[in-house]
Amino acid sequence: MNIHEYQAKAMFRESGVRVQQGEHCTTVEQALSAYDSLGSEIVAVKSQIHAGGRGKGNLYCPNSGDLILEGGVKVAFSREEVEEYASKILGHKLVTKQTGPSGKMVSNLYVESGCDIAHEFYLALLIDRETESLLMMGSTEGGVDIEEVAEKTPEAIHKEWFQPSMGLDEEKAGSMADSLGLKGPSRDSFVEMAGRLASMFVDKDCSMIEINPLVLSGDGTMVALDAKVSFDDNASFRHPWWHEIRDISEESEVEVRAHEQGLSYVDLDGNIGCLVNGAGLAMATMDVIKMYGGEPANFLDIGGGADSESITAAFGIILEDPSIEGILVNIFGGIIRCDMVARSIIEASKETGLEVPLVVRFSGTNHEEGRIVLDESDLDVVTVSTLGAAGEAIVGAIGGLLE
Ligand code: ADP
Ligand code: MG
Repeated sequence: MNIHEYQAKAMFRESGVRVQQGEHCTTVEQALSAYDSLGSEIVAVKSQIHAGGRGKGNLYCPNSGDLILEGGVKVAFSREEVEEYASKILGHKLVTKQTGPSGKMVSNLYVESGCDIAHEFYLALLIDRETESLLMMGSTEGGVDIEEVAEKTPEAIHKEWFQPSMGLDEEKAGSMADSLGLKGPSRDSFVEMAGRLASMFVDKDCSMIEINPLVLSGDGTMVALDAKVSFDDNASFRHPWWHEIRDISEESEVEVRAHEQGLSYVDLDGNIGCLVNGAGLAMATMDVIKMYGGEPANFLDIGGGADSESITAAFGIILEDPSIEGILVNIFGGIIRCDMVARSIIEASKETGLEVPLVVRFSGTNHEEGRIVLDESDLDVVTVSTLGAAGEAIVGAIGGLLE
C-alpha cells in the first residue's frame, strides 16, 4: 500500500525525522490559509498523487486536454502565486513519467515552507530479498532520476545492509554519511536521522521508504524534502490504522474491485488474459506465455477456494481490458474440481459474451471430466493437458507464434 507525501511526512515528524512545516489542503482557500499560517514567504505548492516525478510533470485540463501548468511541484514567492498554482493544480490532471500518458487527477495539495537547499541527496530503505536483510541506499546524486544514476554510474549509489532485529547501528549510518561526504554536525544529523528512519521502517512494517531529495539545508541539518512510503500489505493485520490513511481513489479501480471479490489481479501491458489458481502457477503461466513469444495482459490468481461466482467475476474483469485478444485458463485441481471449473467457464463465457480464442489447461482433481465437459459443450475452446501446450496454443491462436 502506498500513501501520500503529506501522510509520509506526518509519520517522519512523529518519528523525529526532520521535515519542513506544511499543511495538507484540498481547496485553493485552504492553500491560502496554509500560506498565511506557515508564516514563510517562500513556500512549495506540491501536487499529491501516488506517483513520482511530479516536479517535472505537467498539468492538463481533464476536458480539453490543454496544458495548464508546467511542473506539479512549484515554489511560490507570494500569496498570489500560491493562489495561481493551487488553482492550476487542483482539479487538473498531472502527467508524469510514472503516471503514464493518461495522468492522475489531483485532489490533494501540500503547502510546505520553502527550504534553503545546500545540496540534494538520495536516500532509500528497502527490503533486499537476496541477502534477506534491509538495505539502505544513498547517493550524492539526489533530486534527479535515480534509475538513470543506477544505470549510468552505479558506483555513485552507496549501500549498507542491516538486520531488522538489530536496527541500523551508528557505525553503518556513519559509514553511509562518510560515503555521502558529510562532515561535522551534518554527519551527526544524518546518523541520527538514518537510525530513526530504520526504526520507523521496522515498526511500521514498511516495504520502502524513499527520500529524493534528502537535503542538506542552509543550517547544516538534514531535511527530508520528499517522502515516499509503502507498506508491506502482508502486515496489514498488525496495523488497523492503515485503512484510515489508504486513498483508494489513487489505486487502480479494477484492481480494487477484483480484490473485493477475493481475486488478486494486476493489470499488465500484453494481450493474453490469464485466469489461474495460485500465485506460483500464475507466474509460471506468464513465463510460458512469454517463452512462446506472447505477452500476458494480466496476473490473475483466483485463489484456492474459487467457485463459479468468482470464476465469472474473473472472466468479466479480464474482458474489461480492451487489449485482450485471447484467454488462457490454467487450473490445478486440488480442492477445486476441474469439472466444476469447466461448467463455470461455460456459464461465464455465455454471460460475458466471450468472443476471443480460449485455451484451457486442467491438471489434478477431475481433470478428465473437466475436459470432457468443455469438449462436449458448444463453446469454441481448445483444451490441452500440459503447460507448454497451453502456452503454444494460446500464442498460436492469437497469431503470434514465434518461428
Ligand atoms: P517529485 O520527486 O515528485 O518531483 P519532490 O518533492 O521531490 O517531487 O519535489 C521536486 C523538487 O522540488 C525537489 O527536488 C526540490 O528541488 C523542490 N522542492 C520540493 N519541496 C521543496 C520545498 N519545500 N522547498 C524548496 N524546494 C522544494
Ligand atoms: Mg522527489
